[in-house]
Amino acid sequence: MATAVVTGASRGIGEAISQRLLELGYNVIGISRTINESPIHHPNFKALTCDLSDEKMTASILTLLSTDPSITILCNVAGFGVFEPHEEISPNTLSKMVTLNLTTPMILSNGLLRALKFNEGIIFNITSIEALRHSKFSAIYTATKAGLRAFSLSLFEEVRKSGVNVVSINPDMTATSFFDELRFGTSEEFDKRLEAEDIADAVQNILQMRNGVAITDITIRPQKFGLEKKK
Ligand code: NAP
Repeated sequence: MATAVVTGASRGIGEAISQRLLELGYNVIGISRTINESPIHHPNFKALTCDLSDEKMTASILTLLSTDPSITILCNVAGFGVFEPHEEISPNTLSKMVTLNLTTPMILSNGLLRALKFNEGIIFNITSIEALRHSKFSAIYTATKAGLRAFSLSLFEEVRKSGVNVVSINPDMTATSFFDELRFGTSEEFDKRLEAEDIADAVQNILQMRNGVAITDITIRPQKFGLEKKK
């Protein structure tokens, strides 16, 4: 049975994608710091605990994953954002954001590409609408997501002849715990925000395209603009 590796599978977009892949018949290996608290209880779901902003821990997980020849899908979902004036962001937070959002997806892709080539698999990188625009208080987050999108599009050019697809999914504001520590959040209105399941729908649609067709870049937005400022 084909196996999907999903980072950030404990909640939000990663959890929704994991649930969908299990429904589609994949084995799923979910990775995050609190993955043992995941609401996913499925015989084909395996949880691996790892802080993916720690390059040594990521290297250990990769050693483990490298022994699995059935890996066909890599979903790089884990990430976080801090949206403050640049000088207010600590070097430690800045560095963790760059590592988790950008370096780790590149390292996981690097380590799993042989299996993905063998299985003619697919990499999904969850970037952001911020990969496509330039917003204030978002310089680091935007740099990581624009970097991840550029990595995806460039890697596709390299691996397409091997039958591997690399997809950059660029979602707008999605109702998840991403905003828990932020000064703003998603709208309460359904047509002014995305749900995590909308991103899982995109993954499923791309997987169900006929062989020989590759969608490489997809932006998902709510129909209307909405944002709630917190008091
Ligand atoms: P979320 O609900 O906060 O989920 C974030 C996930 O990342 C969790 O599973 C979390 O698990 C994992 N994670 C965070 N830090 C980690 C670390 N150091 N090591 C391993 N895993 C870590 O947010 P989300 O909305 O689902 O976000 C998922 C991705 O979508 C992120 O890359 C985000 O940038 C992107 N995105 C989100 C939105 C949005 O509006 N929500 C829009 C565009 C793009 P643990 O806490 O268990 O480690």
